Formats: sequence, structure tokens, C-alpha cells
Amino acid sequence: MICEMCGKESDYIRTIFLEGAQLKVCKECSRFGEGPEGKGPSKKGKGVAPSRAVVEERLQARERRMRSRDVFKEETVIDLVPDYNKVIREARMARNLKQDELASKVNEKSSVIAQLENGSMRPSDQMIKKLEKELNIKLTEKVALVKPASTKSSRDVLTLGDLIKKK
Ligand SMILES: [Zn+2]
Repeated sequence: MICEMCGKESDYIRTIFLEGAQLKVCKECSRFGEGPEGKGPSKKGKGVAPSRAVVEERLQARERRMRSRDVFKEETVIDLVPDYNKVIREARMARNLKQDELASKVNEKSSVIAQLENGSMRPSDQMIKKLEKELNIKLTEKVALVKPASTKSSRDVLTLGDLIKKK
């Protein structure tokens, strides 16, 4: 069985009552709650019951663990817009510039501009900056890469943090 508090697999599972909720926990975690008889923390345990702060810290750590499993990992990357060639070409034409005129403005050969405009060459970061400035265009965009995290277990687990906050 899996301890509902720390998430560890344990052969020794006992039921405790914590903040009015019934939980199946491992031996180590059982001292955080009251026994089923309601006679307080386990008599033969480590003695003093852990403080509320310790319990909360424990539960927060557990929530973080749960969350990291469920949450979608999102990353953003700055990437060249897919139609950069069109953007460059249209911006150049809108300014009535020939390819070689634009080329000289950004200190490149006109063949480079031609290659950029037919999409056979991707501009370097430096080139992107020069073209963006010269033509007042945007050649990059933020792209979100959403990777689904490993699937959540079908077992519905109590949100202990919520139980504590409700009190
Ligand atoms: Zn445990």
C-alpha cells in the first residue's frame, strides 16, 4: 500500500485521524495523527507528537511531490517565425527597397537577402536583429512547448493541505 501522507510504499499501513480526516499512512507517518481509538498519538511511538508546523511542512512537501507529477511542464523558446522569408520580403517591398539596397543597409550581400527571402537560408541571430531594426519587423516569436508529465494515478487522493487550511 502507499502511505497517503508521504507517498511511500509501505507494508505497514495503519489508519490515523488527522484534522478530522481518516488517512492510511506508513509507520513513520502514523505518529502525526491520532489512532483509530482517538486516544491521541500512538502510545508506544517516539513520545511527543510532532508540532503542527512539522505536520504542515510534511504535507506541503507531499503536495509538491503530487503536483510535480501532475503539472504540465511548460517551456517557452524564442523561435524564428515560420514565414520569416515573407515578412522580410514584404517589409522590404513596402519600403521600395531592392534586395541589394537592403543588403547594403545591413552589410550583407544581396545573395544573402535573396536566400532569406526564398526561405533557403535562416537568418542568424545577429542578422535577425539587424533586419528587425532596419525594417521595423518582428522575426521571432515565443513558442510554448508543452510536455505532458507522466500520467496521474487513477487513485483519488485527499488534498491534505486543503484540509488543514479549512480549519
Ligand atoms: Zn508515510
